[in-house]
Amino acid sequence: MTELVRTRAELAAARSRLAERLGPDDCLGLVPTMGALHAGHLALFDAARAGCAAVVASIFVNPMQFSQATDLARYPRRLAEDLALCEQHGVDLVWAPDEAEIYPDGPVQVWVTAGALADQLEGPNRPGHFDGVLTVVTKLFAAVRPDRAYFGEKDYQQLMLIRQLVRDLGQPVRVEAVPTVREPDGLALSSRNVLLSPSERDSARALSAALMAGRDAAGPAAAVLAAARAVLAEAVGVDVEYLELRDPLLAPPPAAGPARLLVAARVGSVRLIDNVAVELAADGSGR
Ligand code: AMP
Repeated sequence: MTELVRTRAELAAARSRLAERLGPDDCLGLVPTMGALHAGHLALFDAARAGCAAVVASIFVNPMQFSQATDLARYPRRLAEDLALCEQHGVDLVWAPDEAEIYPDGPVQVWVTAGALADQLEGPNRPGHFDGVLTVVTKLFAAVRPDRAYFGEKDYQQLMLIRQLVRDLGQPVRVEAVPTVREPDGLALSSRNVLLSPSERDSARALSAALMAGRDAAGPAAAVLAAARAVLAEAVGVDVEYLELRDPLLAPPPAAGPARLLVAARVGSVRLIDNVAVELAADGSGR
């Protein structure tokens, strides 16, 4: 049975009961989400279930990480359906706090600053976003006290920043990454996909198609970017914000070897992001 708790006091009591069931080597896993759950979130629950004796999911649409009020207002919210999915995927405890529970004094005066890793990609396009993410994740970690926390590669820069947060602030949590879950046509699952009209949904395929074209080019950086750009250039109604190559830790890409190709675009009024691992080949050794 999945238990739903709303307040910090209820969470603390439920967490103690869960902890009593754990043996000395058992771990407690946390999956932070903003709800409107889809198969991507479910993959995180399954990974947590496989790695941990107890699984807690949080569902909280965090106002501090939204830079636009309209984006926050129209973010999908469906707690009843979410709870049923948590139940099906063996989540022991769902913490769904309201805003006052997380921000009892209104906007915080002290917060986590994301630093240099956030000065690129998503950061400049979404001012304050990562400070909001890292601050709320810090609050979630403090309240739930998990041994492990599960995050999706779908939000790759976020994943890197959370690893940095844990290292820099010495948080006693192991961060686990889960590969991106995609629709059959390649589109990365996202809670925002439901906001796409049928024709926008069709156009949105271009993001993953571009990333796969880049990956399949398997050449040097210029060839990978050119292959991906060619797909995006053909797409109708896709307004690209960035298409960038980095090394796996988001430093400038190497001449050859493992790298990450990342894209952000607006399709209609919906902003989508995606990324994929690529293997760069030195000039001359690619296809
Ligand atoms: P969100 O509810 O959008 O804040 O996402 C909660 C967690 O689910 C984050 O760690 C995301 O990276 C992860 N996630 C979102 N979409 C996917 C996906 N398509 N595949 C894997 N993980 C995902």
